[in-house]
Amino acid sequence: MNKEIKKAATPHTVSVLKFGGTSVKNQARIQHVAEIVRDRLAEDPGKAEKKAHKILVVVSAMGDTTDYLLKLGAQCAKTPDKRELDSLLSTGEQISITLLAMTLKEMGLKARSFTAAQIGIFTESVHSKARIVDINNDNLNKALAENDILVVAGFQGITADGDITTLGRGGSDTTACALAAATDAVICDIYTDVDGIYTADPNIIKAAKLLNRVSYGEVIEMARLGAQVLHPRAVELARQYKVRMRVRNTFKPDHEGTIIDGGEDMEIYRSISGVAVDKDQACVTIMSVPDIPGIAGQIMQALADNNIVIDMIMQAFHQTAGLNNITFTVHSTDLDQTIKTLESIKGDLSASSVIADKDIAKVSLIGAGLAGQSGIAATVFKAFGGAGINIKMIATSEMKLTCVVSGKDADKAGKLMHSSFGEG
Ligand code: ADP
Ligand code: ASP
Ligand code: MG
Repeated sequence: MNKEIKKAATPHTVSVLKFGGTSVKNQARIQHVAEIVRDRLAEDPGKAEKKAHKILVVVSAMGDTTDYLLKLGAQCAKTPDKRELDSLLSTGEQISITLLAMTLKEMGLKARSFTAAQIGIFTESVHSKARIVDINNDNLNKALAENDILVVAGFQGITADGDITTLGRGGSDTTACALAAATDAVICDIYTDVDGIYTADPNIIKAAKLLNRVSYGEVIEMARLGAQVLHPRAVELARQYKVRMRVRNTFKPDHEGTIIDGGEDMEIYRSISGVAVDKDQACVTIMSVPDIPGIAGQIMQALADNNIVIDMIMQAFHQTAGLNNITFTVHSTDLDQTIKTLESIKGDLSASSVIADKDIAKVSLIGAGLAGQSGIAATVFKAFGGAGINIKMIATSEMKLTCVVSGKDADKAGKLMHSSFGEG
């Protein structure tokens, strides 16, 4: 994330509230969200300093609108043009901001909707996963001065050339954190459909436990490894700008939720924070490349040039001396582009073929205390072995242990990993 997001030096106290797709699914839910916003505005946390309280609401598209728009795009083109697709997807959030702003105005509140272009959320010129590089603080300050509630479209941005971009699926969380950083907000509340951050997805692993407080580092790792509850870049931004975040349930507005912060004064660091399962992954192997210096660099550069982020790289010796197979994982949405890129350099590399496995999942254990504990890996591998789950790839780092398994084994492996460590 670019370090250029500057504080807007606003004379107000700002609270940022973000509502996800399920929270604004229909008119009744938008009405419910509007009531939460009205109640939060009345809280007035800046009263002591005589600063007016302003609410900055970020909303996602209603329900499954983004999926629906993606399907519409796919009906018109096998590989839709990324610029046009971003323009199409951004319309989802434009619907929800206007409906919420209308509802708030109907309640007599001073509210106004803003697209990313109207407020000035600038991103790099990369479609489908653009990073925010700057926010127009003059626009933001003017809008805050003229209104009590700003309703801003999540997930979208604008390039310096005026093209619409999107930040990647789940990216409204990142819009919220960026705006919280820019306005030096007292809180960035992410309202969703569960009580907070759990030790695993509570909709899949019933034994998952709610965490009252977690550090940025723990959540970044969980989010990167596929825990859908937060967009990883949102938490990276929150850590960089020291934004205090909270994940809360829209349907239980009085529930405390989970606080995410630096964790500085936490007395006891958890050695294990949770389990994440990511089914949106694919495995790609480039077969029989020469075992000479420079080959891996050439492959990675070609992928980087196409903005493809890869993970879990594995290099294995081929039966024939002097040849290697290089395997790595990519996000499913990058699979077609990855194959296309590798096919285009296959000849130069003298590789024999490129093969892909779409039916995989990453199952990860996350925790600050994993480093150097070989017993943890042994426990996981034995549990998987006992259940007949084959491990295709393994990766470890200071804060994680990841196993690639077949897609059909994903949930079972996640549950086993969770139960192996005392169900959180
Ligand atoms: P929103 O539309 O509000 O952004 P998301 O669907 O993106 O909501 O994220 C919330 C979902 O994240 C939950 O319904 C839950 O199924 C899933 N999830 C995955 N891992 C976790 C976790 N560790 N804690 C809480 N929720 C999780
Ligand atoms: N609407 C977008 C999505 O479905 C962004 C978001 O919800 O955060 O991915
Ligand atoms: Mg989300």
